[in-house]
Amino acid sequence: MIRSSHVAVRVDLSRVRRNAQAILQATGVPLIAVVKADAYGLGARQVSRAIADLVESFYVFDLQEAQAYDLAQTARRTIALLVQAKDADACKALRVQPAVWNEASASALLSARPILSIDTGQQRFGVPVHETSTIDRILAAGRIEEAFTHATTIAQVQAFERAVADRSLKRHAAGSGLLEDQSSHLDAVRPGIALYRGAVNVTSPLVEVHETRGPAGYSGFTARRHGIILAGYSNGLRVGPCRINGRASRILEVGMQSAFVECTEADAVGGDVTLLGDGLDEMAVAQAWQTSPQEALFRLSGLGERTYIGP
Ligand SMILES: *Cc1c(COP(=O)(O)O)cnc(C)c1O
Repeated sequence: MIRSSHVAVRVDLSRVRRNAQAILQATGVPLIAVVKADAYGLGARQVSRAIADLVESFYVFDLQEAQAYDLAQTARRTIALLVQAKDADACKALRVQPAVWNEASASALLSARPILSIDTGQQRFGVPVHETSTIDRILAAGRIEEAFTHATTIAQVQAFERAVADRSLKRHAAGSGLLEDQSSHLDAVRPGIALYRGAVNVTSPLVEVHETRGPAGYSGFTARRHGIILAGYSNGLRVGPCRINGRASRILEVGMQSAFVECTEADAVGGDVTLLGDGLDEMAVAQAWQTSPQEALFRLSGLGERTYIGP
């Protein structure tokens, strides 16, 4: 995606901190902050520095991310899902502990203190939870002291707990979706989007406002009045909700680099159209886009250049 120079993305790092503090308070266990995909679009460098003192570790997709975000500088460890067998030394230099789910990787990465990834239903990136003898061999091969699963249900957490019972491993399973359920917390929680809720505000000014005459745009939409903003699908925007002058409105049509929004008599050129924030959250956008809140947040954060406030 291309960032539009006409969209302001404001990231409130003190809100990310408050979210982290609230998670710590509610769960009472250490926090592994998921900052993969550039912290869901908010900026992993900035986010990691803002919450480093609150977290036990960071979680990223691969070793390249850990390096790109310079996470070693935070003096916290990072868990990386995808690490090559040859990268044990790079892991140590970057304070990364790699996830593993086969014997060969576990022994190749032994010196980097690998962490076992158990699959409880996603059917990717993990050893199947029922393969207990394989699990035992991987644990031995990597002298493993920690295990995790990417659970979406409590039943998956329970299957994970049974598979690792009596092995005195540190265990974590819960992302944001399971935080409400105490029984999923185990020895740490590993949320992503719960850290970022309410922290991003995305706006773009109205550059034109028109009384709509007959069918307009490419789609021939009709409205009483419409405005134009300078963000389109090349920036990641889609048809959905927005807010104008504190009022709920909608994006009527999205072009390559501009979009039509529904206006009233109260709206004029220069007025701000809010695409995220001001009472419009990523859940509402995700619903309109028929996707996950994670995807909505990522796309909206990528619409324009980011600026940071706090802490
Ligand atoms: C992305 C991810 C998470 C965080 O998911 P959220 O639903 O955003 O909290 C946790 N664990 C793993 C392994 C992940 O890949």
